Amino acid sequence: MEITEKLIKTHSLSREEALELLKHTKDPAAVAKLARAAVEIRRRYYGDKVFTRGLIEFTNYCKNNCYYCGIRGGNLHAVRYRLAEEEIMDCCRNGYDLGFRTFVLQGGEDPFYTDEKIAGLVKGIKKRYPDCAVTLSIGEKTREAYRMFRDAGADRYLLRHETANEEHYKRLHPAGMSLRARKQCLYDLKDLGYQVGAGFMVGSPGQTPECLAEDLVFLQELKPQMVGMGPFIPHHDTRFAGEPAGSVELTLFLLSVVRLLLPKVLLPATTALGTMDPCGRERGLEAGANVVMPNLSPVKNRKQYDLYDNKICTGEEAAEGFECLRQKVASAGYRLVSERGDFCGADE
Ligand code: SAM
Repeated sequence: MEITEKLIKTHSLSREEALELLKHTKDPAAVAKLARAAVEIRRRYYGDKVFTRGLIEFTNYCKNNCYYCGIRGGNLHAVRYRLAEEEIMDCCRNGYDLGFRTFVLQGGEDPFYTDEKIAGLVKGIKKRYPDCAVTLSIGEKTREAYRMFRDAGADRYLLRHETANEEHYKRLHPAGMSLRARKQCLYDLKDLGYQVGAGFMVGSPGQTPECLAEDLVFLQELKPQMVGMGPFIPHHDTRFAGEPAGSVELTLFLLSVVRLLLPKVLLPATTALGTMDPCGRERGLEAGANVVMPNLSPVKNRKQYDLYDNKICTGEEAAEGFECLRQKVASAGYRLVSERGDFCGADE
């Protein structure tokens, strides 16, 4: 069976099949065929709905030193900030009024925010907005911490695995970090009943088709409810400053592939995609994505959450541009809805 056909029919790929498929990333007929099938299957489960998440980047302090990231602890040029609880609550209030029903608390691994403080934050948000989902994206924690956050009411957790290839993981991270620990966190989170998001950067330094094939195999093993995938974009204060950015076309191709591998998955058209291409968001939706994550962080701090160069933060990706985003989504044939936007299948 032709490889695109195989994926569309069986929703699965072995490592070798994934490698075969990845030879077609520049073949317009294959790209179009996969996107058509991806959009069709997304429509079957989610209709024309596009879900929104209000992203609150609440701290850019980080004890880690991921080599690709502008807010890594070792970057002494980063201007650090952390939001106070009240400021976070203000972001939620603003977001709720705009129609957001999911808040994503994302940050570096900031020791100031102890597990107890995070649990308190989650409780506070859930108490004020019981009809909203809370997603955490604060990195690697102990299983006990994840349990505490879950007991406090956290619904979802985003933790990109970054790459499923051991050697590649080592090229991107310092010795204290390991793919094994990252994966264990993801399995713990699933086990604790979170809707879990894994994912990776497309075109990160050293990424090969073999790495991507392993990513696709790992996603099939883990079966996350969400997958975050965006192009790698260099940051001037990292060792990868001179590396090329990941390709928008390859990202779109992979969005379609992941939609077909995990038909019900919640798949964002990411800010990084919107940074690389002014129409990146819409193109992401046309490739199979069904989530957008506008920024609800205070305007004064947005530039400081500086993961990569030229990160967009004042246009439609920002909450202020929400109405404009709604219209753009509508003109692409979809409907931006004011709902929690949970995973639509039984948990696996
Ligand atoms: N600290 C949390 C964690 O480790 O999951 C969440 C924050 S972290 C900055 C969020 C994501 O940003 C990472 O998972 C990574 O994939 C992405 N990121 C970091 N640097 C990037 C870059 N240079 N280009 C594109 N994405 C990047």
